[in-house]
Amino acid sequence: MKSELLATFRATFLRSPEFIARAPGRIEFIGNHTDYNGGTVLGAAIDRGVWVGLARREDQQRRFSSGQRRDIVATSAGAPQRRSGAESWVNYPLGVIAALGEFGLRAPAGFDYLAVSNLPTGAGLSSSAAIELASALTFVASMGESPPRETLVKVARHAENHFVGVPCGILDQGVSGFGRRDHLVFIDCRGPSFDLVPLPAGAHFWIFNTHTKHALVDGLYAERHRECMEAAAALGVAQLVEVSPAMLAAAEGKLRPSLAKRARHVVEEIARVSACVAALRTENLTDAGRLLVASHRSSQRLFENSTAELDFLVDALVIVPSVYGARLTGGGFGGAVMALTSPEFGDAEARQIAAAYTQAFGTAPDILHAKTGDGAALQ
Ligand code: ADP
Ligand code: MG
Repeated sequence: MKSELLATFRATFLRSPEFIARAPGRIEFIGNHTDYNGGTVLGAAIDRGVWVGLARREDQQRRFSSGQRRDIVATSAGAPQRRSGAESWVNYPLGVIAALGEFGLRAPAGFDYLAVSNLPTGAGLSSSAAIELASALTFVASMGESPPRETLVKVARHAENHFVGVPCGILDQGVSGFGRRDHLVFIDCRGPSFDLVPLPAGAHFWIFNTHTKHALVDGLYAERHRECMEAAAALGVAQLVEVSPAMLAAAEGKLRPSLAKRARHVVEEIARVSACVAALRTENLTDAGRLLVASHRSSQRLFENSTAELDFLVDALVIVPSVYGARLTGGGFGGAVMALTSPEFGDAEARQIAAAYTQAFGTAPDILHAKTGDGAALQ
């Protein structure tokens, strides 16, 4: 990707970039809708991502281009203004510039900027966090700054929450920022604090992206968020992370049935994340896989953020002997399923799953055999 970035940068701006950064996409491994409840989550950075090149300009022009859209979007220095339509992708780097200001950091007044990527966008692999982090790294480096990784993660999330306007938790940016090859990132969202957990040898990730999206996905996400807050308030806590499974069992009667289901999912999912860390630390992929399936069943039955398409894929995957476990990954209501497999699971098995899915739903899922990769860094 670096040579592609250099060639496209030269072709677009007739000069070379001074600073280059790469940030990876990520998989949500386990911990579904736990982040905004103050819980824990495990994710993996993958070996695909976004590369950003930047060269400072003498004037006050900020010129943006992307391998995905060849035209140049020019803005002047000063407070970033939101863009719309075909230019709306620029809101990600512009949002980072705005967010840097909130953290006492700055971007150069003028620059040429290019992003290229080998990460599918809108596929639940968080290309948005990748472009934010790669942008943030080049901006601060070109100002001679090297803030802690944690600050850059917070800047990137702030950009997405407040400038782009997506109320994501810390998972996406945290994993893209702190990922490491052959490791998972464990995030305690209350700090937030970030830890690495080694991924046992022989563990493989396969992603099946259905490209389906519930028409009401944003509204449904907000509704689940609201239900969790309402359940926490009814249980007398600030966040559901403060409720243990035993406490919930004793107090569940205070909640109306739908809220009790949402709370049970979150409380048990947080316990599953801990159990999964323990399983991985003892290299027990069978137990880890069982927890992934339990997570999916909980999303399906209690949190009710799965769909017929996602359930079909999980059901088809879990009966394959080389699959340890499978679950929906990301916010749900459509999107992708992730499978944890042994090396025996290969293209032939993946194609078989895809063929069965195509027969049932009339469209083929995209398949990605994702390897773990390193977190965001200057190149
Ligand atoms: P996801 O994060 O799951 O990929 P999002 O909708 O959150 O999906 O973010 C995707 C958006 O991020 C794209 O529509 C685009 O605006 C922006 N984006 C990501 N990567 C690039 C890139 N390489 N060039 C330009 N825009 C990008
Ligand atoms: Mg995103």
